Amino acid sequence: MSNITVCARFRPLSSKEKTNFGNSVCIRGIDSETFIFKDEKEEEFKFCFDRVFYENSEQVDVYEFLALPIIRDAVNAINGTIITYGQTGAGKTYSMEGPDILESDEHQKGLLQRAVNGLFECIKSSEESVKYTLKFSMVEIYMEKVRDLLDLSKDNIQIKESRVQGILLSGVTEISISDPAEAMQSLSSGIANRAVGETQMNMASSRSHCIYIFTVQQELNRVKRVKEGKFVLVDLAGSEKVEKTGAEGKVLEEAKTINKSLSALGNVINALTCSPGKANHIPYRDSKLTRILQDALGGNSRTALLCCCSPSSSNAPESLSTLRFGTRAKHIKASPRANSREENSARDHGASYATKVESSERIL
Ligand code: ADP
Ligand code: MG
Repeated sequence: MSNITVCARFRPLSSKEKTNFGNSVCIRGIDSETFIFKDEKEEEFKFCFDRVFYENSEQVDVYEFLALPIIRDAVNAINGTIITYGQTGAGKTYSMEGPDILESDEHQKGLLQRAVNGLFECIKSSEESVKYTLKFSMVEIYMEKVRDLLDLSKDNIQIKESRVQGILLSGVTEISISDPAEAMQSLSSGIANRAVGETQMNMASSRSHCIYIFTVQQELNRVKRVKEGKFVLVDLAGSEKVEKTGAEGKVLEEAKTINKSLSALGNVINALTCSPGKANHIPYRDSKLTRILQDALGGNSRTALLCCCSPSSSNAPESLSTLRFGTRAKHIKASPRANSREENSARDHGASYATKVESSERIL
């Protein structure tokens, strides 16, 4: 058993924050794991995470600390998940995609671009006798509906669960990708599909949760076994409270739905951490988000959470809430294991989010 990795990231002050509120910041760094946070009443709180990325941190540092170990494991058939959490404008999408999925310059590239290269590099340096297949799916959860971003006609993907196969995104599009360029094309078309919705749905990109799923399958010819690891990245919708946004009508409905699913996520985390060792009920079924993340939170996945925050004192209440969420999540225990199964049972199960585990080898 190991705890999930929880990191905090503070973006630089935005020009709007500087203009409207000056250079007042709510954090004082102590070291790469600890900082002091000052709330709007000048009260101080000490926070400690696995790593803190301050305003001048580089994208590559976030990738190397958070994603690279998980990617190496995914290539060895161990599931992994990275989740970005925080209020709108805190730097979640920047951390995932950089300023632009295709056009970002080298040092601005986000977790996704680096992960794609990392996955292919890990595969290239692996054993030659193993045949690898890399597949990609991308969905968003908007107003409690799961939409396939690689095929917009599939706008209500059902989440199914079987005792043997775990959580399934029934009928979701899975694209085989054979090189980084192909992967980037699929990624950018998925992101463009998200943007199409954006004009129709009031900035859907921060009003929906976006989930990127890479499946690495290995065929071990000699022993006729298939191993499979999922690497999942989740760019959550903004965690700000509805009352503060002054939202009305449809935007209010969206905000309520988001708050509900993020509360469900918080409740799942509470249930997982409040009574360790006790077989209590974990309310995964309370939202689509928590059902999809069931494996990431409840067991068979190496999981990392990046808590994104503004450093401005003007956003102190939202940042404090994000950091407290991260502190609670630090206590979740996970027990990822390598997934393998017989070759003839590995095919045609549809795209499964969680891997069927017929035999498992505990690695921790
Ligand atoms: P979110 O996805 O959390 O709503 P974004 O990632 O879109 O927020 O970030 C909001 C703005 O801040 C964007 O203009 C983005 O480019 C900028 N930004 C976020 N994080 C950083 C960072 N670490 N360095 C530079 N700019 C950043
Ligand atoms: Mg965003």
